[in-house]
Amino acid sequence: MIVAITGASGNMGKETVKSLLEVPFVTLRMLVKRDKPSIKHAKAVKREYGKRVEILYGDVRNAEDCFALVKDAAYVYHLAAVIPPLADHEAENAVTTNYDGTVNMVQATVRAGNTAKFVHISTVAVYGNRDENHPWGRVGDPLIPSAFDLYATSKLRAERYLLDSDLAHWVVLRQTGVLYDNMLLANISDGLMFHTPWNVPIEWVTAKDSGILMKNILLQTEQTGEKDFWQGIYNIGGGAGCRQTGYETFDDGFKLIGGSVKSFFDPDWNAVRNFHCFWFSDSDVLEERFHFRTQTCEGFWTWFLEKHKTYRAGRAMPAPVLKRLVIAPLLKNDNAPAYWKKHGEEARVFAAFGNAKLSNKWEDFSLLCESDGYQKLKTHDVSFDLPHGYDDKKPLSEITKEDLTAAAAFRGGSVQGKFEKGNVYDKVEWRCAEGHGFLSSPFTVLKGGHWCPVCSEPDREWKFDLLSKTNKHIAAVWYDTHDRKENKIYRFTKQGKAETEEVE
Ligand SMILES: [Zn+2]
Repeated sequence: MIVAITGASGNMGKETVKSLLEVPFVTLRMLVKRDKPSIKHAKAVKREYGKRVEILYGDVRNAEDCFALVKDAAYVYHLAAVIPPLADHEAENAVTTNYDGTVNMVQATVRAGNTAKFVHISTVAVYGNRDENHPWGRVGDPLIPSAFDLYATSKLRAERYLLDSDLAHWVVLRQTGVLYDNMLLANISDGLMFHTPWNVPIEWVTAKDSGILMKNILLQTEQTGEKDFWQGIYNIGGGAGCRQTGYETFDDGFKLIGGSVKSFFDPDWNAVRNFHCFWFSDSDVLEERFHFRTQTCEGFWTWFLEKHKTYRAGRAMPAPVLKRLVIAPLLKNDNAPAYWKKHGEEARVFAAFGNAKLSNKWEDFSLLCESDGYQKLKTHDVSFDLPHGYDDKKPLSEITKEDLTAAAAFRGGSVQGKFEKGNVYDKVEWRCAEGHGFLSSPFTVLKGGHWCPVCSEPDREWKFDLLSKTNKHIAAVWYDTHDRKENKIYRFTKQGKAETEEVE
């Protein structure tokens, strides 16, 4: 059985390759980019598995490469993406790889006969920012990607394209933050880490467990068909043992070198909003079906330290020295909020901090994970769930025209034409509050959380301040971290400069 994969040399990709090759009847065909690390990884896999691995050099941005990859494949695992921090520095590369690459892969699969089962890896970043007001989220929640995050917006548009495409067999998996082998070193080379708010709820998953999930999806589909799993959208998360805040995550990492967040960072170095991640109230759905979780955050870091004993050496150095030599220099990276403040990049600063006035002393900063209500907040109950504007507990087969009408009105719009009860994958015509008409399946809107492609799929413009005034679906979470008096459009100019425009 031929299984095609893109993104094989990424953090999740490497584990997926290993895991899929544990299945004896799989021949893995990898699309490999012509760059050194990808070639090196592909050659190592080939050496180990011989004929069971086919290497195809190419790029998802090339339609013919995609066709050659998916031809005769029974499964397509589409993992390739340009992710942050690279996506923050190479906007064009992110947009073309993440969006155009997905379009190519979907079209190639349809052209090759439309029989392959297509696993699309999307991202939690499509949901946009969360804080303690709505720390829990699920599929169907609004998609409000953070301003200037072209990774999130390109992935959002890619996912939308797939959902309303002619692809016959698909599943969309929204991947969360991934804990992987090299993550400490990879993160102390860019200002990206300062984008993480201390109080952001994050549910991690490890790269290893993600790989196991990919394998189990294939094995179980071969055994049982898993019919009610395909044509669905799911959040990947590691569950209760992987739910933390940004602060706790950094603290776990920096404990390895003998310090704490408080000894290595000032509280005002990190953004307070315009990020992504939350705790999934529905990530157990995948676990109950595919049993892939083997590592908690704690287990991961224990394993990590065992593997990288050299990190212990850092403990010999006093924290203030490490802070000055390792962390503080990153504030000068042009992806760091401190750099934006220093260089007058007001649009980015406002996106990340709003009107928050932060002290540089930890005693003035309220950490969610140290608050009295924290443990209670971590226990999910339905009162945490955001409204979707219709009875979202109904099975898909029971969805009626009234549900579509209610959902559309909740988003400030309307829906036209006939709808046969339960027929959620056939497109209907929607209209947004701004008057744009668009064709989308009820599934894409109700279960995907997608809405008007003109208004809410930012390419270079983010208008959620304005959209929230008529769209209750968005407003329910947008105002957690935005003042109702904020009336800005965030945009990239043609030259790629971040700016805001005040509007009434
Ligand atoms: Zn619109």
